[in-house]
Amino acid sequence: LMVGGIITGIILSLVAGLFLANRALIPIQRSWDKQTRFVADASHELRTPLAVIQAHLELLFRHPTHTIEEESEAVYKSLHEVTRINKLVSDLLTLARVDSDQLLLERTEFPPGKILEFVSDQFTPVAEMKGIRFQKTLDTHNLYKGDQARIQQLFMILLDNALKYSPADTTIHLLCEKEGEAFIVQVSDEGVGIKEEDIPFVFDRFYRGDKARNRSQGGTGLGLSIAKWIVEAHGGDIKVKSSENKGSTFTIRLPKKQTLTKS
Ligand code: ADP
Repeated sequence: LMVGGIITGIILSLVAGLFLANRALIPIQRSWDKQTRFVADASHELRTPLAVIQAHLELLFRHPTHTIEEESEAVYKSLHEVTRINKLVSDLLTLARVDSDQLLLERTEFPPGKILEFVSDQFTPVAEMKGIRFQKTLDTHNLYKGDQARIQQLFMILLDNALKYSPADTTIHLLCEKEGEAFIVQVSDEGVGIKEEDIPFVFDRFYRGDKARNRSQGGTGLGLSIAKWIVEAHGGDIKVKSSENKGSTFTIRLPKKQTLTKS
Protein backbone atom coordinates (compact mmCIF):
# COMPACT_ATOMS: atom_id res chain seq x y z
CA LEU A 1 0.00 0.00 0.00
CA MET A 2 2.85 2.32 0.95
CA VAL A 3 4.64 1.60 -2.36
CA GLY A 4 1.37 2.36 -4.19
CA GLY A 5 1.13 5.65 -2.28
CA ILE A 6 4.71 6.57 -3.12
CA ILE A 7 4.17 5.75 -6.82
CA THR A 8 0.95 7.78 -6.89
CA GLY A 9 2.83 10.62 -5.17
CA ILE A 10 5.63 10.48 -7.74
CA ILE A 11 3.14 10.39 -10.62
CA LEU A 12 1.17 13.29 -9.15
CA SER A 13 4.27 15.44 -8.65
CA LEU A 14 5.49 14.52 -12.14
CA VAL A 15 2.14 15.61 -13.61
CA ALA A 16 2.19 18.81 -11.52
CA GLY A 17 5.83 19.43 -12.52
CA LEU A 18 5.05 18.92 -16.19
CA PHE A 19 2.03 21.20 -15.88
CA LEU A 20 4.07 23.96 -14.23
CA ALA A 21 6.98 23.56 -16.67
CA ASN A 22 4.53 23.77 -19.55
CA ARG A 23 3.01 26.94 -18.11
CA ALA A 24 6.45 28.46 -17.65
CA LEU A 25 7.31 27.59 -21.24
CA ILE A 26 4.22 29.23 -22.72
CA PRO A 27 5.69 32.78 -22.71
CA ILE A 28 8.94 31.47 -24.23
CA GLN A 29 6.96 29.62 -26.89
CA ARG A 30 4.94 32.77 -27.57
CA SER A 31 7.99 34.94 -27.93
CA TRP A 32 9.56 32.29 -30.18
CA ASP A 33 6.40 32.24 -32.33
CA LYS A 34 6.47 36.04 -32.47
CA GLN A 35 10.10 36.01 -33.58
CA THR A 36 9.46 33.35 -36.23
CA ARG A 37 6.52 35.33 -37.56
CA PHE A 38 8.61 38.52 -37.60
CA VAL A 39 11.33 36.84 -39.68
CA ALA A 40 8.73 35.36 -42.05
CA ASP A 41 6.94 38.71 -42.50
CA ALA A 42 10.25 40.53 -42.98
CA SER A 43 11.40 38.04 -45.63
CA HIS A 44 8.09 38.32 -47.42
CA GLU A 45 8.32 42.13 -47.44
CA LEU A 46 11.85 41.97 -48.83
CA ARG A 47 10.92 39.48 -51.53
CA THR A 48 8.41 41.80 -53.21
CA PRO A 49 10.77 44.68 -54.09
CA LEU A 50 13.53 42.20 -54.93
CA ALA A 51 11.22 40.44 -57.39
CA VAL A 52 10.43 43.77 -59.06
CA ILE A 53 14.13 44.63 -59.43
CA GLN A 54 14.87 41.15 -60.79
CA ALA A 55 12.08 41.47 -63.38
CA HIS A 56 13.43 44.83 -64.60
CA LEU A 57 17.02 43.59 -64.79
CA GLU A 58 15.99 40.42 -66.65
CA LEU A 59 14.03 42.48 -69.13
CA LEU A 60 17.09 44.63 -69.85
CA PHE A 61 19.34 41.58 -70.05
CA ARG A 62 17.13 39.39 -72.26
CA HIS A 63 15.91 42.07 -74.66
CA PRO A 64 18.99 44.07 -75.55
CA THR A 65 17.04 46.01 -78.19
CA HIS A 66 15.19 48.20 -75.72
CA THR A 67 14.87 51.94 -76.17
CA ILE A 68 16.50 54.56 -73.95
CA GLU A 69 13.08 55.31 -72.45
CA GLU A 70 12.53 51.66 -71.53
CA GLU A 71 15.98 51.53 -70.04
CA SER A 72 15.55 54.62 -67.91
CA GLU A 73 12.12 53.47 -66.76
CA ALA A 74 13.58 50.12 -65.63
CA VAL A 75 16.41 51.90 -63.81
CA TYR A 76 14.02 54.43 -62.24
CA LYS A 77 11.64 51.73 -61.00
CA SER A 78 14.50 49.60 -59.69
CA LEU A 79 15.93 52.57 -57.80
CA HIS A 80 12.52 53.16 -56.26
CA GLU A 81 12.50 49.57 -54.98
CA VAL A 82 16.08 49.88 -53.69
CA THR A 83 14.99 52.93 -51.65
CA ARG A 84 12.15 50.83 -50.28
CA ILE A 85 14.48 47.99 -49.32
CA ASN A 86 16.81 50.46 -47.60
CA LYS A 87 13.97 51.88 -45.53
CA LEU A 88 12.69 48.41 -44.70
CA VAL A 89 16.10 47.14 -43.59
CA SER A 90 16.68 50.19 -41.40
CA ASP A 91 13.21 49.78 -39.78
CA LEU A 92 13.85 46.05 -39.28
CA LEU A 93 17.19 46.78 -37.60
CA THR A 94 15.51 49.25 -35.24
CA LEU A 95 12.88 46.67 -34.26
CA ALA A 96 15.44 43.88 -33.89
CA ARG A 97 17.38 46.10 -31.48
CA VAL A 98 14.14 46.93 -29.64
CA ASP A 99 13.42 43.20 -29.26
CA SER A 100 16.87 42.40 -27.91
CA ASP A 101 16.70 45.35 -25.48
CA GLN A 102 19.70 46.97 -27.14
CA LEU A 103 17.96 50.25 -27.77
CA LEU A 104 18.43 52.50 -24.80
CA LEU A 105 17.35 56.10 -24.65
CA GLU A 106 19.95 58.85 -24.49
CA ARG A 107 18.33 61.63 -22.57
CA THR A 108 19.04 65.32 -22.99
CA GLU A 109 16.92 68.45 -22.58
CA PHE A 110 15.42 70.02 -25.70
CA PRO A 111 12.27 71.86 -26.80
CA PRO A 112 10.09 69.24 -28.60
CA GLY A 113 8.17 72.02 -30.39
CA LYS A 114 11.43 73.09 -32.08
CA ILE A 115 12.04 69.52 -33.23
CA LEU A 116 8.53 69.33 -34.69
CA GLU A 117 9.14 72.66 -36.43
CA PHE A 118 12.45 71.39 -37.83
CA VAL A 119 10.84 68.16 -39.10
CA SER A 120 7.93 70.04 -40.70
CA ASP A 121 10.42 72.40 -42.40
CA GLN A 122 12.19 69.35 -43.82
CA PHE A 123 8.90 68.05 -45.21
CA THR A 124 7.75 71.43 -46.58
CA PRO A 125 9.08 70.93 -50.15
CA VAL A 126 7.24 67.56 -50.40
CA ALA A 127 4.10 69.14 -48.93
CA GLU A 128 4.23 72.06 -51.38
CA MET A 129 4.66 69.67 -54.28
CA LYS A 130 1.50 67.88 -53.16
CA GLY A 131 -0.41 71.11 -52.47
CA ILE A 132 -0.57 70.46 -48.71
CA ARG A 133 -0.18 73.18 -46.07
CA PHE A 134 1.08 72.96 -42.51
CA GLN A 135 -0.70 74.85 -39.78
CA LYS A 136 1.41 75.00 -36.63
CA THR A 137 0.69 75.80 -33.01
CA LEU A 138 4.00 75.04 -31.39
CA ASP A 139 5.51 75.80 -28.01
CA THR A 140 9.12 76.06 -29.09
CA HIS A 141 10.54 77.18 -25.74
CA ASN A 142 9.68 74.74 -22.98
CA LEU A 143 12.13 71.92 -22.48
CA TYR A 144 11.53 68.19 -22.29
CA LYS A 145 14.00 65.55 -21.17
CA GLY A 146 14.14 62.63 -23.56
CA ASP A 147 15.94 61.06 -26.49
CA GLN A 148 16.03 63.84 -29.08
CA ALA A 149 16.95 61.62 -32.04
CA ARG A 150 14.11 59.18 -31.25
CA ILE A 151 11.57 61.98 -30.75
CA GLN A 152 12.64 63.40 -34.11
CA GLN A 153 12.21 59.95 -35.68
CA LEU A 154 8.73 59.76 -34.10
CA PHE A 155 7.69 63.11 -35.61
CA MET A 156 9.11 62.07 -38.99
CA ILE A 157 7.01 58.89 -39.00
CA LEU A 158 3.81 60.80 -38.18
CA LEU A 159 4.42 63.61 -40.68
CA ASP A 160 5.46 61.19 -43.38
CA ASN A 161 2.19 59.29 -42.89
CA ALA A 162 0.08 62.45 -42.75
CA LEU A 163 1.58 63.53 -46.09
CA LYS A 164 1.32 60.06 -47.65
CA TYR A 165 -2.36 59.70 -46.80
CA SER A 166 -3.53 63.26 -47.62
CA PRO A 167 -4.80 64.54 -50.96
CA ALA A 168 -3.94 67.94 -52.46
CA ASP A 169 -5.47 71.09 -51.04
CA THR A 170 -5.62 69.93 -47.47
CA THR A 171 -4.04 71.12 -44.25
CA ILE A 172 -1.98 69.22 -41.71
CA HIS A 173 -2.33 70.68 -38.22
CA LEU A 174 0.62 70.38 -35.86
CA LEU A 175 0.33 71.01 -32.17
CA CYS A 176 2.90 70.87 -29.41
CA GLU A 177 1.98 72.23 -26.00
CA LYS A 178 2.85 71.74 -22.38
CA GLU A 179 0.04 70.42 -20.23
CA GLY A 180 1.11 70.48 -16.61
CA GLU A 181 4.37 68.56 -16.52
CA ALA A 182 3.61 66.66 -19.74
CA PHE A 183 3.87 67.53 -23.42
CA ILE A 184 0.99 66.94 -25.81
CA VAL A 185 1.87 66.55 -29.46
CA GLN A 186 -0.76 66.23 -32.13
CA VAL A 187 -0.50 65.56 -35.86
CA SER A 188 -3.85 65.93 -37.54
CA ASP A 189 -4.58 65.51 -41.24
CA GLU A 190 -7.58 65.83 -43.57
CA GLY A 191 -6.66 62.74 -45.53
CA VAL A 192 -8.13 59.35 -46.43
CA GLY A 193 -8.62 58.32 -42.79
CA ILE A 194 -8.53 54.80 -41.37
CA LYS A 195 -11.34 52.27 -41.53
CA GLU A 196 -12.88 51.68 -38.11
CA GLU A 197 -12.03 47.97 -38.20
CA ASP A 198 -8.38 48.79 -39.02
CA ILE A 199 -7.85 51.24 -36.15
CA PRO A 200 -7.01 48.62 -33.46
CA PHE A 201 -4.24 47.19 -35.66
CA VAL A 202 -2.44 50.22 -37.09
CA PHE A 203 0.30 50.04 -34.43
CA ASP A 204 0.99 46.37 -35.20
CA ARG A 205 4.11 45.40 -37.09
CA PHE A 206 3.64 45.07 -40.86
CA TYR A 207 0.00 46.10 -40.64
CA ARG A 208 -1.25 48.14 -43.59
CA GLY A 209 -4.77 49.44 -43.91
CA ASP A 210 -5.17 48.90 -47.60
CA LYS A 211 -2.38 46.76 -48.91
CA ALA A 212 -2.45 47.76 -52.57
CA ARG A 213 -2.78 51.46 -51.88
CA ASN A 214 -0.04 51.51 -49.32
CA ARG A 215 2.41 49.39 -51.22
CA SER A 216 2.18 51.87 -54.09
CA GLN A 217 2.92 54.56 -51.47
CA GLY A 218 6.11 52.73 -50.54
CA GLY A 219 5.11 52.10 -46.91
CA THR A 220 6.62 49.28 -44.87
CA GLY A 221 3.87 48.88 -42.29
CA LEU A 222 6.51 49.33 -39.58
CA GLY A 223 6.42 53.09 -39.00
CA LEU A 224 3.68 53.22 -36.40
CA SER A 225 5.00 50.21 -34.47
CA ILE A 226 8.33 52.04 -34.14
CA ALA A 227 6.45 55.25 -33.19
CA LYS A 228 4.59 53.35 -30.46
CA TRP A 229 7.82 51.91 -29.09
CA ILE A 230 9.45 55.37 -28.95
CA VAL A 231 6.48 56.88 -27.11
CA GLU A 232 6.17 54.01 -24.63
CA ALA A 233 9.92 53.92 -23.98
CA HIS A 234 9.46 57.56 -22.85
CA GLY A 235 6.65 56.44 -20.54
CA GLY A 236 4.00 58.05 -22.75
CA ASP A 237 1.09 56.93 -24.85
CA ILE A 238 -0.09 57.39 -28.42
CA LYS A 239 -3.68 57.36 -29.61
CA VAL A 240 -5.44 57.75 -32.93
CA LYS A 241 -8.84 59.10 -33.85
CA SER A 242 -9.85 58.76 -37.44
CA SER A 243 -12.80 58.70 -39.76
CA GLU A 244 -12.73 57.59 -43.35
CA ASN A 245 -12.30 60.34 -45.94
CA LYS A 246 -12.28 62.97 -43.20
CA GLY A 247 -8.84 62.54 -41.68
CA SER A 248 -6.79 61.20 -38.80
CA THR A 249 -5.45 62.69 -35.59
CA PHE A 250 -2.55 61.12 -33.75
CA THR A 251 -2.17 62.36 -30.18
CA ILE A 252 0.92 61.72 -28.10
CA ARG A 253 1.35 62.36 -24.42
CA LEU A 254 4.89 62.54 -23.14
CA PRO A 255 4.94 62.73 -19.35
CA LYS A 256 7.80 64.14 -17.33
CA LYS A 257 8.25 60.97 -15.31
CA GLN A 258 9.75 58.33 -17.50
CA THR A 259 10.00 54.61 -16.97
CA LEU A 260 12.75 54.34 -19.59
CA THR A 261 12.09 50.67 -20.03
CA LYS A 262 10.76 48.81 -22.99
CA SER A 263 7.04 48.25 -22.57
P1 ADP B 1 2.99 52.37 -43.57
O1 ADP B 1 4.43 52.23 -43.92
O2 ADP B 1 2.11 51.41 -44.34
O3 ADP B 1 2.52 53.78 -43.61
P2 ADP B 1 2.61 52.52 -40.70
O4 ADP B 1 2.96 51.55 -39.62
O5 ADP B 1 3.23 53.88 -40.61
O6 ADP B 1 2.93 51.82 -42.06
O7 ADP B 1 1.03 52.68 -40.74
C1 ADP B 1 0.20 51.53 -40.71
C2 ADP B 1 -1.10 51.77 -41.46
O8 ADP B 1 -1.87 52.75 -40.76
C3 ADP B 1 -0.91 52.33 -42.86
O9 ADP B 1 -0.71 51.33 -43.81
C4 ADP B 1 -2.21 53.08 -43.09
O10 ADP B 1 -3.23 52.18 -43.52
C5 ADP B 1 -2.60 53.56 -41.69
N1 ADP B 1 -2.21 54.98 -41.46
C6 ADP B 1 -1.16 55.43 -40.75
N2 ADP B 1 -1.14 56.78 -40.70
C7 ADP B 1 -2.22 57.19 -41.39
C8 ADP B 1 -2.79 58.48 -41.70
N3 ADP B 1 -2.24 59.63 -41.28
N4 ADP B 1 -3.93 58.50 -42.45
C9 ADP B 1 -4.52 57.36 -42.86
N5 ADP B 1 -4.05 56.13 -42.60
C10 ADP B 1 -2.91 56.04 -41.87
